[in-house]
Amino acid sequence: MTVRIFEVFTSIEGEGILYGTKTLFVRLAGCPFTCSYCDTKDSLPLDSGMEYTMRQATDLIDETLQDYTYKVNFTGGDPLLQHNAVALLAGHVRARGVLTYLESSCFDSDRFAHVLPHIDIAKIEFKTSDSGFVTKMRHDKMIGEALRCLELAVGADKTVYIKLVVSSSTPAGEVRRLASAVFELVPREAISGFVIQPVHGSGAPSLDHLLEIYDLIRPIYADIRVVPQLHKIINAP
Ligand code: SF4
Repeated sequence: MTVRIFEVFTSIEGEGILYGTKTLFVRLAGCPFTCSYCDTKDSLPLDSGMEYTMRQATDLIDETLQDYTYKVNFTGGDPLLQHNAVALLAGHVRARGVLTYLESSCFDSDRFAHVLPHIDIAKIEFKTSDSGFVTKMRHDKMIGEALRCLELAVGADKTVYIKLVVSSSTPAGEVRRLASAVFELVPREAISGFVIQPVHGSGAPSLDHLLEIYDLIRPIYADIRVVPQLHKIINAP
């Protein structure tokens, strides 16, 4: 087996509930989706980056992993595109006693289930219809896949949090329906956070829009947070 990796680097986690932690990012190549706010477009082609044997890839991780790294973040692209390789790499990292983190768009619950046993922390992302992730026709199916991933991760007793990227055109009613669907499926105490991530730059939401979204979720989930991408503020990759 081989794996296509775009880049491996150490930086500060800039998103989600673990922002600020020293993290080794393993950015897998390839993603078939089309989010308007994607900030890793160079890694979307499956032939981007370089191809490694599994031995070369684990050696690269071992050589790059620094002391005091809090976790290894498997990101992309979408790491679930190469789920078999990610399961092996995450298993290798865990055997070294380092936490593993999966950052995917949760587009395929079967692939997610394959990787999950090797993952400590799972971000479950729900893409709203304004994201451009998929066509409107496929959007409901993708939300279903993400809900199933959420159910699997909670069932496996992982550290799980939810992320929603909010733009100026994210429909508030859709967010309310999503939040209701989430907490009909899993108990509030099984979730370690619900993060609203504002789009950065073009398409950024106004403060009023963020507050509207916050106020919709707050009665359902008390620990809702608006967390901008920290790494963009400190000019880190
Ligand atoms: S799923 Fe992630 S990597 Fe793929 S286009 Fe959307 S933001 Fe970019």
